[in-house]
Amino acid sequence: MPDAKFAKPWHGIPREEIEWHPSVDDDACIGCGTCVTGCSRKVYRFDFARKKAVVADPLNCMVACMTCANTCPTNAISFPPVRTILDLADRVEVHHAVEDELLERRDELAVTADLLHEDHIVEMVVQDIAQIGSGTRLLTLSPRRERDEMCQFVPGQYIEVWVPGASWMSRAYSIANAPRLDGSIEVQIRKVDGGRLSAWAFGAVAVGDVVAARGPLGSFTMRSPEGRPVIFVARGTGFAPIKALLEQQVELFPEREMVLFWGATSSDDFYELDHLAELAGAAAELSVTLVARRYTPGFSAPSEVVTELGRVSDAVASSGLDLAGFDAYVAGPRLTVVDCVAALGGLGIDPSRVFVDSYGA
Ligand code: SF4
Ligand code: SF4
Repeated sequence: MPDAKFAKPWHGIPREEIEWHPSVDDDACIGCGTCVTGCSRKVYRFDFARKKAVVADPLNCMVACMTCANTCPTNAISFPPVRTILDLADRVEVHHAVEDELLERRDELAVTADLLHEDHIVEMVVQDIAQIGSGTRLLTLSPRRERDEMCQFVPGQYIEVWVPGASWMSRAYSIANAPRLDGSIEVQIRKVDGGRLSAWAFGAVAVGDVVAARGPLGSFTMRSPEGRPVIFVARGTGFAPIKALLEQQVELFPEREMVLFWGATSSDDFYELDHLAELAGAAAELSVTLVARRYTPGFSAPSEVVTELGRVSDAVASSGLDLAGFDAYVAGPRLTVVDCVAALGGLGIDPSRVFVDSYGA
């Protein structure tokens, strides 16, 4: 019988709906007993007659734990793919359940009382709201006061944003532009069904709203020495940091050899294509390919830009490029990033020269 204190819901999801428990390969098990005595949740019992470990209460197993598999001397224990857990962790309701519990237990769990470092919080004013396709909004935010450090970010970095009056925590967004004289920044906000900041950004948000922000943060910044060719690959809101890096490089090193693949579900999701054409015009060695799963009738791309139909990782893989000597910067949903990194590897790139920035599916 499962023990109620172990087989309880996992961040709001009933335990019995989660397929996560060990399986023992009888032939490989040598009956050392390590897993049986080592698991404090009594998932196992021991078959003394056969000298084998037996999974007796699988629901007692802690979701995502694999300790027993790691300590089995014969690798006799297996688990479902880790992807099982990553897919669950990507669910909005799981994110909210974790967030609510953190806030509820803040006094107990906070490292220090002054975690927010008030001097790094700045106020930003919503200056413009633009819709990109059906699922993304581009907000332009301006610092309320000139001194604000947000203007001194390095392209590729991100900020955290709090909606005024919200009782939940901040959300992180990449800055989608290189630094500007007026200090304004763009952030792309993806529509997430049931998402908390998303509900504000696609609902009550208005020009003039003031949000709190912390940053700049993150290290997905340019690491390539001058003269080294670079390939950028982006999908979804992963285009934000890539666009910032690209703007920076066109401004600083317009002669650098650069390749951009920008993937999207629909051609409606591409934006600022005239700006992209300007960048391509300013950098002779920059080639730009847009890759969409579908193209809306009437869509037309600037002449400086090539279009392809399909998945961005496939477009990279079939590009025929020789990427030996290139650096790569890849940003987008986690699974797309995995596929793109594999595609880049097939084109001869040094894996240690691939830099990634990914988010949940
Ligand atoms: S740790 Fe491995 S070998 Fe030892 S009892 Fe468990 S399954 Fe068998
Ligand atoms: S994974 Fe962890 S909780 Fe599950 S059976 Fe193994 S040791 Fe116990």
